[in-house]
Amino acid sequence: MVQGVGFRPFVYRLATSLRLAGTVRNDGEGVWIDVEGEPEQLDRFDARLRSEAPALSRIDSVESTRCAPLGRHGFLITPSAAEGAQAALPADVATCDACLRELGDPQDRRYRYPFICCTDCGPRYTLAESLPWDRARTSMARFPLCDACRSEYEDPGSRRFHAEPNACPVCGPRLRYSAHPARERPLLDGESALQAALALLRWGGIVAIKGLGGYLLAASATEEHAVLRLRARKKRPHKPFAVMVRDLEVARNLCEVDEVAASALASRQHPIVLLRSRRPSPLASAIAPALDELGLMLPSTPLHHLLFEGGSGFHALVMTSGNVSDEPIARTDEEAFARLDGIADGFLFHDREIVARADDSVLRIVRGAPQPIRRARGFVPEAIPLPFEAPPVLAVGPQQKSTVCLTRGAEAFLSPHLGDLDHPETFVFFEESIAHLRRLCGVDPLAVAHDLHPDYVSTSWARASGLRAIAVQHHHAHVAACLVEHGRTGPALGVAFDGTGCGPDGTLWGGELLLADLSGFRRLAHLGPLALAGGEVAVRQVWRLGVAAARAVGVPFVAREPHPVTVAQVEALLDRPELCAWATGAGRWFDAVAALLGVREDTSYEGQAAIELEALATQAADEALRPLPHGFQTEPSGVEVLDLPPAIRALVDARDGGTPSAVLAARFHGTLAQAVVDACLRAKAQTGIGVVALSGGCFQNRLLTGLCATALEREGFEVLLHRKVPPNDGGISLGQAAVAAWRLSAEGRDREGGRCVWESPVR
Ligand code: ZN
Ligand code: ZN
Ligand code: FE
Repeated sequence: MVQGVGFRPFVYRLATSLRLAGTVRNDGEGVWIDVEGEPEQLDRFDARLRSEAPALSRIDSVESTRCAPLGRHGFLITPSAAEGAQAALPADVATCDACLRELGDPQDRRYRYPFICCTDCGPRYTLAESLPWDRARTSMARFPLCDACRSEYEDPGSRRFHAEPNACPVCGPRLRYSAHPARERPLLDGESALQAALALLRWGGIVAIKGLGGYLLAASATEEHAVLRLRARKKRPHKPFAVMVRDLEVARNLCEVDEVAASALASRQHPIVLLRSRRPSPLASAIAPALDELGLMLPSTPLHHLLFEGGSGFHALVMTSGNVSDEPIARTDEEAFARLDGIADGFLFHDREIVARADDSVLRIVRGAPQPIRRARGFVPEAIPLPFEAPPVLAVGPQQKSTVCLTRGAEAFLSPHLGDLDHPETFVFFEESIAHLRRLCGVDPLAVAHDLHPDYVSTSWARASGLRAIAVQHHHAHVAACLVEHGRTGPALGVAFDGTGCGPDGTLWGGELLLADLSGFRRLAHLGPLALAGGEVAVRQVWRLGVAAARAVGVPFVAREPHPVTVAQVEALLDRPELCAWATGAGRWFDAVAALLGVREDTSYEGQAAIELEALATQAADEALRPLPHGFQTEPSGVEVLDLPPAIRALVDARDGGTPSAVLAARFHGTLAQAVVDACLRAKAQTGIGVVALSGGCFQNRLLTGLCATALEREGFEVLLHRKVPPNDGGISLGQAAVAAWRLSAEGRDREGGRCVWESPVR
């Protein structure tokens, strides 16, 4: 990682300080240095090249060849070699402290200039059209440097020596504001644009702000009516909004921020971090209804900082993706003006084009370390190392929380979070991301990995791509993703708990214990199935799952809210299995329990019932985590079925006996964790394998993850949790890619007696 991180300037300074002559340039494979001088100085150069490299860089290897000296004098940074890319493109970096000081300094020529950046910070991935990283290949190419900026760019002593997106108020992008940019001219610009947007926010209006990787929608975080208006216009009734806060101090006032959380918030990615809220809160309650957590982030661009600095009066602003409901984030101005018209009351934008979309990333602190929930801005396109070399493979992910992944050698490159492929707009983003990844990686895949589900848009795309298609089972992909993140190839035990995924038998899986390695898997155990009365509709109308679970233990379900159909009608559906789907998904059992405990009967976003059940369980004391009765049966095939109905029966009885629902929510978590640990112990006795990977969307649940991991470790297991990709379906493409690439490289090894014969074609 030597491009876009100030590496050439570093080489220049190092070489000149050692009085060495030569050149440095970016090329498709990294950085190329010609250097000549006294041998002992050259040795020093070699050593310091590694030990003093810039903080944002990463050196995988240094290859050197000795040549006859050319007798050159002086050291030069020369233009990049022709296109073609094996080098890594860095991710966007939040504004650094040195730039922030200049931003707030009235004497500085970039005082309050919203596009200030340097070699240590600023946009990268979202501006780059192709590699190598050079201004000419970014959307900054249309802004010729002014004399002052050019002299910084060429001055080895400057912080902006070869800072590709360097700009200033004279030569760089300009801020604009308009209530209706498509119709209304002239536009306000510069400081008056910023002040107009701030005035609108103060009034309680909604402002669309052009961010790094797409348009965001901002509103005052303390005005209840502003937040409610944003919810109504975005058609997003409950799903929590993220809040951008001025600084760490404000974050600490709003939420519990420990050291791990503080360093995640202030990391160079500046992601959204989910944190326990403090009560009472000065923020609008509509930001995260029914939850005790809040997603906070710090300002990551100079423009964001300007919303809080200089007497704006704001400490916290709601910041959410500029889109309607689950569509992808708006990238181009035209797209934003058209799609956000009617949502935003005003637009704060500029004339620097966003080349690649990237939503804000989201993390949760799980067992003392960050775990991604959404991997996008700041992390993309950083490579995830694979534990083996393989031919290039494209993986197209599942249907929901889609990401795509391309491998090159022993590295995997994931797209940012794309969204749900049910939306035609997301499909556009999906194809755009595949093309962009291929361009940035400079490889053409030999095969495409996809889900087993025949109806996923990604599956159809893969099958129609003309490439060799390799199907990877959904939960196998979950476990494989967790393994390769930790540099493992298996075998391991894999617990994959999620909503639903297609099993090889065509039924819906999702409460799985697998014995897996990268080449394949065996199903060892699973949760018992629950009927989805009426099919997919039960995924949103979770009270139908409550009816099914109640019926399974012979008790009546009493709905607390009105529904378009009656409980009796759903029971009639359950009597006709041909009108039901059956799913073993752990997420479905969470839904059923949430409905039985009166937590939630209908959901408006994925995972809502389970998220609220976790929030409720967290309120209970630790002793409430005692497991309820449960058991297991072994099918003739040898596969175990983990039996939850006894626990459901006990829950219903305790509920009717007046036990608080927080205690019961906790006991359900405790039960599920115990069932997992018991099943893993039996699997270990059978297989001798003591490594467990926990994956699937249910392991976003910190309480469940903590209970399982603690108990498994107490039993001597090594537990692998997701740290680089999300446990939810956002991590699936990495698992698919790993499995497919492993199979291809195994074929190669087989053919050549152990030696991999695959060559990565480089364009
Ligand atoms: Zn900077
Ligand atoms: Zn300038
Ligand atoms: Fe899944």
